[in-house]
Amino acid sequence: MILTVTMNPSIDISYPLEELKIDTVNRVSEVSKTAGGKGLNVTRVLAEIGDNVAATGLIGGTNGEFLLQNLHPNVRQCFYNISGDTRNCIAILHEGKQTEILEAGPTITADEANGFLHHFKSLMESAEVVSISGSLPAGLPVEYYIQLVEIANQAGNKVVLDCSGAALEAVLKSEVKPTAIKPNNEELSQLLGREVSKDLDELKAVLSEPLFEGIEWIIVSLGADGTFAKHWDTFYKVDIPKIQVVNPVGSGDSTVAGISSALSHQADDVSLLKKANVLGMLNAQEKMTGHVNMAYYDELYKQLHVRTV
Ligand code: ADP
Repeated sequence: MILTVTMNPSIDISYPLEELKIDTVNRVSEVSKTAGGKGLNVTRVLAEIGDNVAATGLIGGTNGEFLLQNLHPNVRQCFYNISGDTRNCIAILHEGKQTEILEAGPTITADEANGFLHHFKSLMESAEVVSISGSLPAGLPVEYYIQLVEIANQAGNKVVLDCSGAALEAVLKSEVKPTAIKPNNEELSQLLGREVSKDLDELKAVLSEPLFEGIEWIIVSLGADGTFAKHWDTFYKVDIPKIQVVNPVGSGDSTVAGISSALSHQADDVSLLKKANVLGMLNAQEKMTGHVNMAYYDELYKQLHVRTV
């Protein structure tokens, strides 16, 4: 079973408007509300591809209940209840633009932080792969993911960690190593404090830096340029065909679903990289975030090329 972890989930609300009028009333008729947060996108994709998936994280209030009701029916629900309300994240789609209003979310108490660690530990026996995504809510220290990775490692589970900024830096600088991380180009630049290009020699040099030592898989997603990856000492480039992109938001989360799925099925390197890329591409071809149409899977899969560099 794959266990996904979403510490700061949200109800994602989308308001399509022809025009956003400021300082007056905007009326919207086509509202869509979905269970969001990067980890829940990963969860949805895993359920859609037919993997055995359980979802955990922190939820609270009526938004938390809404979130549970909106999970894919094949997802085992293992969330931990907190006193604060799960947040709303609003995207206003107008004139080809996207204006977002993101609530920070609830502040987690020390008791809740400890309580979740115990809860998480109790889920380790039934998991093989733990897939942790997204930001930490207020109240949790930046080192919190170190504790989750350590618990999962001690249980012998593989860990895919997809986060950025201080939370990722804290894990990379610690003794505790996840099995896989999936920074995109921008997150890699932010992490290193300098612009990192898509040049393969530069990426090779960057991933060889001591900061990444001990991490089995580093998979750098490059949007329309596919993926650059390091598995122990082997470097790979995945070349992908040009596709009709509808909405690339959540493609990285679909890629993470592919990595987690492949790890749980003990796939070889090439199969892991192809699955991760195809799922990212399938998401980009759909309107809905964190959704894939498996009818196109085999056809795309055949068009990918994985080479060592
Ligand atoms: P993130 O969402 O984390 O920024 P990326 O944008 O790099 O991640 O996308 C993840 C994967 O999804 C890519 O490696 C690729 O396989 C696929 N993908 C994303 N955008 C495109 C695109 N414009 N064309 C083709 N594939 C894409």
